[in-house]
Amino acid sequence: MGAQAAGTRSRPERINFAISRRCAVACDGCYTVFGQQDPPREPFMASVCAFVALGIDALTLSGGDPLLLDDLPAWLAGFRHAGVRTIKLDTVGAGLLAPAREGAIDIETLLGAVDQLALPLDGWDNASAQHFRRGRADLHNRTVELLRQLDACARPGQLIVNTVVHAGNADHLARIAEPVLALRTLAQWNLFQYTPTDQAAAGANDRLRVGDEAFAAARVRLHQQIGELPLVRWRSIADRLGHYLLVNSDGQAWLPRADGSTCRLGCIFGREAAVLEAWATAVTEIAR
Ligand code: SF4
Repeated sequence: MGAQAAGTRSRPERINFAISRRCAVACDGCYTVFGQQDPPREPFMASVCAFVALGIDALTLSGGDPLLLDDLPAWLAGFRHAGVRTIKLDTVGAGLLAPAREGAIDIETLLGAVDQLALPLDGWDNASAQHFRRGRADLHNRTVELLRQLDACARPGQLIVNTVVHAGNADHLARIAEPVLALRTLAQWNLFQYTPTDQAAAGANDRLRVGDEAFAAARVRLHQQIGELPLVRWRSIADRLGHYLLVNSDGQAWLPRADGSTCRLGCIFGREAAVLEAWATAVTEIAR
């Protein structure tokens, strides 16, 4: 996302289809507003065509974990066919190392179908990863191994690593940096200030919250430890306000407010221009 301030942008740079209702991980601080039904492909593809015609041809596919979507290759091919120029896929990567599910996608096919692939890494070992991402005791080791294998096949600039900076890891970012900065095909390492959300589990916001001062201090500390690197992108809560247009599996659009509450914009199907107008109005209000 660019650096334009909330309130000055009239449309999102990309649409984020957070349409997978399943995830192999259960994060206490999950921000996703999950839908009620599995996503119907036809209306989503019609919507993508409409957004492309309205000038938005960059798309993020997320969830949940989009690797758990039924027939992911058909979704990705459909986006291309509809005119999407840039496809980014956000995944925790479960199942990519050893595809067990029938129809599961493999690493080479996935990398061939997307422009960028983003994975999360929030800890420096299996125990510390559990501060934020729960449900997989070996998640850290598996993610580091997956990144290594992806890095061997990816194109330069194809991999993105996302780290949620929270109260449990803000003092240890240099340890997380080690495997990230070793990646040959890394496009960027995003460090996101944890955003409290009304979707989080009870108590998670208080446990994970990292204030503006603590986030700035973590940045100074990391720069002292590893130097100023152009691939490292710091994303505070304020930086990210008004940059997202998320859509869940039911086609419902939303964006987060600064206080973590969810601003709902209604269904996109057949209403793409109206949703973009509602989005612009919401962004202006959020910036006040
Ligand atoms: S990995 Fe992402 S989608 Fe899955 S539970 Fe965690 S925050 Fe939510």
